[in-house]
Amino acid sequence: ESIPVIAIDGPSGAGKGTVARLVAEQLGWHLLDSGAIYRVLAVATQHHQVSLDDEEPLIPMAAHLDVQFKISSQGESKVILEGEDVTHTIRTEEIGILASKVAAFPRVREALLRRQRAFKVSPGLVADGRDMGTVVFTSAPVKIFLTASAEERAQRRFNQLKEKGLDVKIGRLLDDIRQRDERDSNRKVAPLVPAEGALTIDSTDLSIEEVVNKILSFSDGKL
Ligand code: C5P
Repeated sequence: ESIPVIAIDGPSGAGKGTVARLVAEQLGWHLLDSGAIYRVLAVATQHHQVSLDDEEPLIPMAAHLDVQFKISSQGESKVILEGEDVTHTIRTEEIGILASKVAAFPRVREALLRRQRAFKVSPGLVADGRDMGTVVFTSAPVKIFLTASAEERAQRRFNQLKEKGLDVKIGRLLDDIRQRDERDSNRKVAPLVPAEGALTIDSTDLSIEEVVNKILSFSDGKL
């Protein structure tokens, strides 16, 4: 029961994913990208042509979601849904928006709780998402709320997509980010808010390394 968790929550594009991975690597701990689970569920609803208007049919889908998180022989992490590699599919803006829609249903979130908690394995877990510290791992000894201005988050996303050779409009990305923030912050269940006792880090003007070091030094006294 005393397996430690570092819970990292915050809005999309704040750098949680990268930071969580680096902190987990430094400590030699397991990693949970909880957003990936909501994204995979969004892809599953598309595959099975299930509408997002109604919560009821989504609950058994969430409960029985056939997803595996694997590390390939080259050391890359892979996401497999019903035997199909969806590693790249789940990262599109479109799926991000659908994920935030399925994530707004309380009983869908509930159906995914046990799956997320199963990632808590010795020697420790770094978990990133929206409600890691407030709902899923309430007794985590370390809680971080990682944020950045919407403009900075849109710019980072723009740079990522440009690197991949994709042509996108930054204004469009900023609109998407604001819409998603709005939906994630105002929903009734597990809204995006800092957990009690969380250290808030604004990464707008910080490098990834600076954020990682802040988290590690904050954790130092608590683990
Ligand atoms: O973090 P990421 O952008 O991959 O998450 C996709 C969506 O999944 C978020 O916009 C949010 O609505 C939802 N989510 C959530 N709770 C989490 C992780 C993600 O509601 N713990």
